[in-house]
Amino acid sequence: MIPFNNLKIQYERYSNEYENKVHEVLSSGWYVLGKEVEAFEEEFAHYIGCEYCVGLASGLDALKLGIRSLGIGKDDEVIVAANSYIACIMGITENDATPIFVEPDDNYNIDVSQIKKKITKKTKGILAVHLYGTPCDMDALLKICKDYGLYLIEDCSQSHGATWNSKKTGSFGDVSCFSFYPTKGCGGFGDGGCVVTNSFDIRNKVRVLRNYGSEKKYHFSEVGLNSRLDEIQAGLLRIKLKYLEELNQERIENAKLYIKNIHNKNIVLPKELENAKSVWHQFVIQSPTRDKLKQYLSEHNVQSEIHYPIPPHLSEAYSYLMYKRGDFPYTEKLSDSVLSLPLYNGIDKKDIMYITKLISEYKGI
Ligand SMILES: *Cc1c(COP(=O)(O)O)cnc(C)c1O
Repeated sequence: MIPFNNLKIQYERYSNEYENKVHEVLSSGWYVLGKEVEAFEEEFAHYIGCEYCVGLASGLDALKLGIRSLGIGKDDEVIVAANSYIACIMGITENDATPIFVEPDDNYNIDVSQIKKKITKKTKGILAVHLYGTPCDMDALLKICKDYGLYLIEDCSQSHGATWNSKKTGSFGDVSCFSFYPTKGCGGFGDGGCVVTNSFDIRNKVRVLRNYGSEKKYHFSEVGLNSRLDEIQAGLLRIKLKYLEELNQERIENAKLYIKNIHNKNIVLPKELENAKSVWHQFVIQSPTRDKLKQYLSEHNVQSEIHYPIPPHLSEAYSYLMYKRGDFPYTEKLSDSVLSLPLYNGIDKKDIMYITKLISEYKGI
């Protein structure tokens, strides 16, 4: 079986460094918010091209606290692509704000031409999700935010290192959110996340909120969370970050191999905007007979996944928003036709060639 993902290969590549770091932190006697977290925050901010980074416990917390730090809350609206991952929407609703959905375009990211008609007096910001590792049209989003006085929030949980006009995703927003969940491009060995920003104020707010709202030991200025990145995780992420460019490059080459070698007029291949450079968190194709294709691949020993089978507006969790099937037809069509192929670091090029051959020969329209 060609698995959909295999995280062990990456661990084994750098296992000495990882293991030495774990021992170093264990023997230091300091385990939460210490010098590894500080060093990682500095290194990650520098990598993205921002002033500040604040390490957190998860990508969802990054969204929750990033959005909260902008003062977005009850009665406010945030515009977001309807095909986003559910956590993006939870980052909005956990602040009691309302997600306003916009259909994606052919690059799976928010269709910038459909945003303006959704802006109301309540709109406070746009959450730009760089889905599957492919940057959104940042020029258009920056212009809309400037023209309408909106905050730009980036969700870079799938796009660590991806660029728009050679600038990294995460360097455009007022606040940008990242996940370090193990399967992400800059994945750790457990949960983790961060926000990056150029604002000293936002940085300070998030630092207070991640630690129960404590500005000074045992003085609590507001009700915060416990959302701290631990020392072992930060130490391991510092190692991962050193190799991130190399790991991204490997995925870019593998994505090119897929694109070059899949020849089937019934299969839609992924595209990128001209100024965008994807890091291919997922390699997503479309087929009108997606479930049959998935079954066919599985019968030929290839695992594949669906990102995502149920769009947030039809998710049970959001039934209270009262949307129904047909409200976002393009998003719904994508949920029924997208399929992600294996593209993990360390995948054998022979396996990719085998998968491209299978898909090229697939006859089920
Ligand atoms: C993974 C992911 C998140 C959530 O990150 P966690 O660390 O799992 O909380 C948020 N947004 C996007 C786009 C993601 O892919």
